[in-house]
Amino acid sequence: MAEIHKKMLAEVKDKVVFHEALQRGLTYIDSVLERNVYPTDEALDNLNQFDESMPEEPSSAMDVIRKLDHYGSPATVAQIGGRYFGFVNGSVVPSGLSAKLLASFWDQNTAMYVISPIAAKLETVVQQWLKSLFGLPEQTVAGFVSGTSAANLCGLAAARFRVLKNQGWDINQRGFHGAPPIRIITSKEAHSTVIKALGLLGFGYNLIEFVETDSQGRIRADLIPELDDKSILILAAGNVNSGSFDNFSEICLTARKADAWIHIDGAFGLWASGTKKLSHLTRGIEQANSWAVDGHKTLNTPYDCGIVLCSDKEALTSALHMSAGYLVLSDTRDGMFYTPEMSRRARIIELWATLKYLGTVGIDQMVYEMHERAKQFAAELSGIDGFTVMNEVVFNQVIVVCESDSLTEKVLGFIQQDRVCWVGGSTWKGKKVIRISVCSWATTEQDVSVSVHSFKSCLDKALGKE
Ligand SMILES: *Cc1c(COP(=O)(O)O)cnc(C)c1O
Repeated sequence: MAEIHKKMLAEVKDKVVFHEALQRGLTYIDSVLERNVYPTDEALDNLNQFDESMPEEPSSAMDVIRKLDHYGSPATVAQIGGRYFGFVNGSVVPSGLSAKLLASFWDQNTAMYVISPIAAKLETVVQQWLKSLFGLPEQTVAGFVSGTSAANLCGLAAARFRVLKNQGWDINQRGFHGAPPIRIITSKEAHSTVIKALGLLGFGYNLIEFVETDSQGRIRADLIPELDDKSILILAAGNVNSGSFDNFSEICLTARKADAWIHIDGAFGLWASGTKKLSHLTRGIEQANSWAVDGHKTLNTPYDCGIVLCSDKEALTSALHMSAGYLVLSDTRDGMFYTPEMSRRARIIELWATLKYLGTVGIDQMVYEMHERAKQFAAELSGIDGFTVMNEVVFNQVIVVCESDSLTEKVLGFIQQDRVCWVGGSTWKGKKVIRISVCSWATTEQDVSVSVHSFKSCLDKALGKE
């Protein structure tokens, strides 16, 4: 038996390294709710401890874990805590995290039923749950992918397949060359991953018909060009800056009548439909044909967890797998037919554990709480001279500006250096803005107030008042 083999066997048997990893993870959790959100300069400098050439000799698993924790943990962004408001990320709920821990030992590949019956079962169950939670048509199927980037790609690939098929063109057989034209209609504020997906699918940027948005970033329904059965219309549930929602009821009805394919990018916003007081925002989404949503944002599953939902199973499976036909008809689920990849880690385990744990009541409460904290953020900032909230806080996003672009950027820089919280910058309606996204279950009223306090002192500092 090779040396390395003996070593691994011994480490598996004595389990010390697994206990060590767990212990260090628990220590991390203890401090992460309190500590500086962004790594200190020292922690960042120490990352050069990882600069080494590929080791020649094996090392002990214990040494690997110790090094990772010693230099790695301090250089993480405290994203699972309550004061990370950057981009639209999310924390992780306890059941999701612990299910991931357990499932780490399983190391399941969810390509096919025969490779992992448990993963196939959970995918089947969760598909049903999500359909009912979002109120989608009964025939809707789900693919479990890495995030909404991938989900947008899958949904739009299904759209491309179906729109061409309806015109007597099989893209799988004949490719794009000489295919009948397809129209793509979306808003000027479509998320960059929508544009990327379109590019990957062979739709050039200049071919996209971009529609103006209103003051909140919603697509202007009155400016959407006449649609037809060669059209793919892409809408948004949750504008990445303002959190606004397109007017689905009205737009989808018209688009449906015209036989257009409707895809909704609902990365973080689709979860509004699981919230009683906010579900009006997503009214009408059931009329679409495909939907993209993340587990790892609003729902707070661990990364990477995205879902594509599609009411046209044939279009989705045909778009993603040319050989789908007969295998999909087996009575068990082979997850690979609903995703571009064959082998995938079984992210469904954490998604299932999160949904099972929260239930519809827990989702309702958790998501509404994020909304309340966003409202609190906006209200407290509005009370400070020098900050202006630019958007209606309909969901979890707040856009703030100072008196000028340069001041906004300066204040943002100071806030990021302060490390009490972390927020990012963006551009909105031609202005440099600070974008606040509340999407951690762990965010408390106190977290918001402490963060607002940091905003205030950074503004004072930028104005030379300190
Ligand atoms: C985050 C986001 C995406 C991309 O999702 P990933 O999970 O990062 O791939 C797409 N659309 C919107 C609106 C988003 O917020």
